[in-house]
Amino acid sequence: MVTRRRILTRLGMVGGLGATLGAMQALGLAGIAEAQDMSGMTPTLGRGRHVIILGAGIAGLTSAYELEQAGFLVTLLEARKRVGGRAWTVRNGDTIEMNGEETQTAKFSDGVYFNAGPARIPSFHQGLLGYARKFGVPLEVEVNSSRSAYIMADDGSKIRMRTAINDMRGRIAELLAKAIRKGALDAELSAVDREKLLPFIKAYGDLGEDGAFAGTERSGFGTAPGAGVAFATASTAMPIDQLLANQRLPMTLFEDNLYMQATMFEPVGGMDRIHAAMDNALRRPALRGAEVTRIRQRSGDVEVVYRDPASGAVETVVADYLICTIPFPVLAKIDTNLSAKLKTTIANVQYDYSNKVAFESPRFWEREQIYGGISFVGGPTTLIWYPSAGLHSERGMILGCYSSGPTAAEFQKRSIAEQIAFSRGVVDKLHPGHGADLVNGLAVNWHKIPYSLGPWPDWNAGSANGRQEGHIDTAAFRLLQAPEGRIYFASAALSQTPGWQEGGIQSARAQVLALARRVSAEALVSPARRRAV
Ligand SMILES: Cc1cc2nc3c(=O)[nH]c(=O)nc-3n(C[C@H](O)[C@H](O)[C@H](O)COP(=O)(O)OP(=O)(O)OC[C@H]3O[C@@H](n4cnc5c(N)ncnc54)[C@H](O)[C@@H]3O)c2cc1C
Repeated sequence: MVTRRRILTRLGMVGGLGATLGAMQALGLAGIAEAQDMSGMTPTLGRGRHVIILGAGIAGLTSAYELEQAGFLVTLLEARKRVGGRAWTVRNGDTIEMNGEETQTAKFSDGVYFNAGPARIPSFHQGLLGYARKFGVPLEVEVNSSRSAYIMADDGSKIRMRTAINDMRGRIAELLAKAIRKGALDAELSAVDREKLLPFIKAYGDLGEDGAFAGTERSGFGTAPGAGVAFATASTAMPIDQLLANQRLPMTLFEDNLYMQATMFEPVGGMDRIHAAMDNALRRPALRGAEVTRIRQRSGDVEVVYRDPASGAVETVVADYLICTIPFPVLAKIDTNLSAKLKTTIANVQYDYSNKVAFESPRFWEREQIYGGISFVGGPTTLIWYPSAGLHSERGMILGCYSSGPTAAEFQKRSIAEQIAFSRGVVDKLHPGHGADLVNGLAVNWHKIPYSLGPWPDWNAGSANGRQEGHIDTAAFRLLQAPEGRIYFASAALSQTPGWQEGGIQSARAQVLALARRVSAEALVSPARRRAV
């Protein structure tokens, strides 16, 4: 019997990887995500081929690892002294250097660290979680939301998340029940559906038999249950006008955003643990302190010049192909012989702004029953994020600011001292008296970070619908998906999720597969060339 697997094996032998993948899709064996399954690449596919990869962030590391698995010789060049790129964990003694700012040095107690870039991994980011599993990187749950955290209004008044969520639900359910009972929705709902909906709404909002909302224990206790006959009472229901007066009320839905839904993860000890493990797994780990200054594509190869920023030593490397993962604002300033059209495209990619301010502190928030999660405060600092790691230990890292977009663009104009003082003030407003607990503040403004110059591109900047995740389709974005000659571009920036590491993996795998298809095709056309290399 000719099985589908046999057909694929034969196709793979005669038609190379591209034929196999194309056929897999035609046979319904691979969706787009599965088409990124790299197991279709044989370990000898890249034999005799050399690829230079620029940048050892997640896209560069993924490219390097997958190409090595397929037998390519890989040279991975990284400007910094560390791998991980934007996945940057700041530990005691590390320095933060930003263009135009004084160097900051982290002073953290044992076990305290600060993920200045990515800090959470959604359950559905199986590429990244898969590498963590493959390379034995221990994960812990990142508690991304806590019902004990707060939403704070502009006037400083605050509501616990559990109260805001459940009282608002109760109020909406009550209104809906009233509307149904009055017949206001008779045109929209059949009698049968009305009959079914009413009991659901009652359960949904925890309404009384009369359909009224009189408070719910879901929102917290008025009186907590105690010993013996110390009965519990529900908290008093908040009037709807008071709920609506809190400008942060929509943030109660934050945890329903698919990217933010439980269960979320973090590597134990810092986000960069995954990147360090990937680098360790490479036959030829990243060459650190290798800042690329010049790229020249020629008819038969690609030449890259790089320098060690510490010693000034300059080296040159030549290879068959190149995968560039350098962020576009940085690449725009590098001397290349890319086409004029591509250079202009690269120079015009706009990057967003994003800031984080971190402090070390005794864990006062845990005495308010906040274990991880986020309080939303609005304003220039947007939120306060509590640590998931080291619960009940003496001290921890609290994030006093994480903002992006225009708010962040304005905030980063302040001096570092002002950013830290402002963030401390907001923490003190939400947790009175505790601003003074915060020590050793650090501010990271991603637009000023060398070798990054921004947190992620803002592809849809200026468009009516600024929404970007999953909805990027500009001419520049499409142009950069394709190689120019021997030069390929991979990066989270070239995925539908530029603000997530998973996007970097997807983009890298897509480019590695494109390169693998090309190499397979070339080997078919001129097998002698392959043997000769
Ligand atoms: C504040 C912030 C919060 C984030 N939160 C999350 C999160 O919670 N979860 C998540 O999954 N993602 C998050 N992200 C997004 C995630 O960090 C990025 O999408 C991802 O790390 C980008 O990977 P990359 O490999 O495309 O780019 P990078 O990580 O930027 O890698 C590019 C590499 O190129 C190197 N390079 C630059 N110039 C040169 C040169 N001249 N020569 C040699 N090398 C050079 C850089 O040093 C860097 O290592 C966040 C990002 C930021 C900034």
